[in-house]
Parts: sequence; structure tokens; C-alpha cells
Amino acid sequence: MLRQRLSAALLAIAMLVGLQVATTGPAAAAPRILYYDASQAQEFKAVVAQGAQIWNSRVANVQLQPVPAGRTPNIRVYADNGWPRTYSTSLGNGRWYMGREAVNDGYYQPRIAAHEFGHILGLPDRRTGLCSDLMSGSSAPVSCTNPNPNSTEASTVNNLFRSAAAVPAREFTWVG
Ligand SMILES: [Zn+2]
Repeated sequence: MLRQRLSAALLAIAMLVGLQVATTGPAAAAPRILYYDASQAQEFKAVVAQGAQIWNSRVANVQLQPVPAGRTPNIRVYADNGWPRTYSTSLGNGRWYMGREAVNDGYYQPRIAAHEFGHILGLPDRRTGLCSDLMSGSSAPVSCTNPNPNSTEASTVNNLFRSAAAVPAREFTWVG
């Protein structure tokens, strides 16, 4: 009788544990955090942060955050009078320039910032001419004010970071 009660209690515990495991499920993988340093982006610091925020709101597997003091950034952002451009060293690492050449031509600054971050996140230029594509860059009209990656661009980035894909070092220029 005692043994029966004991085994019934053990069964109940086992079921409870099993239930907890079943309802908790596999933990979602934490996103990869990439730190960016916009301290040398001059008058574009706010728009650099906006470009990062755009990506953060659309992808789950990677997040762009301002670099904390004392940490080495993955990404450095600069400003100069040339074309916007990116020098990526590997997936999630490199530096890019907010180039005034395009800003002065009237290209939408948040779109430039999100586009150049897109290169760091593993996306190449795709000069489709479409404003709905973030990576169409300067091939879309100067009047294009879409700063958002389309769903394909966002899912490509998610997939690259899910698999920690190897992306070779590359250089991209706004006008190619
Ligand atoms: Zn580009």
C-alpha cells in the first residue's frame, strides 16, 4: 500500500516535471549583439542610431547596440565628403562611412544608414531600382524615403546570423 502510494506520488512528480519541460519548450537562441561606435560619425550620430534601430525592429537573430565604454566595437561609423561606403571584414564586423556626397545629392539619410548597416549584416548591393528594396541603394530614385529592409532582406539577415555564415571581406560603394 505504501509502495503504491509512493509510486503514485513519483508518477505525479514525473508528470509535473514532464509537463513543465513540455510547456517551456526549447529556449530561443539569444540574438547576436553587435556593438557599433558612432562617436566619429560627426553630424550623423542620430541617424546612425536610427539605422540601427530600424534593423533591431525587423530582425531577431542580431541586434545593433551602441558600444559600452571599454569595449571594442564590431562596427565603426565615420563621416566624410565621399560616397557612403562600407568595408566589411566578416559577418557583423567592419566600418562604414556616412558620405556627404550622397547626402548633398538629397538621398534620404536614414535609408543610407540602414543600407550601410545592411552590408555589415551580410547583404550585398542589389541595384534593382526599387525603392521597396533597401539594398537597391542609389539605384532607387533620390526621392525614395524607404529606410526599411523588405521581408526578404530581413529574413536573409536572420538566416545568416542563425547559421553564423562565413561572409568574406568586401567593399561596397553607394554609387557603383
Ligand atoms: Zn551599398
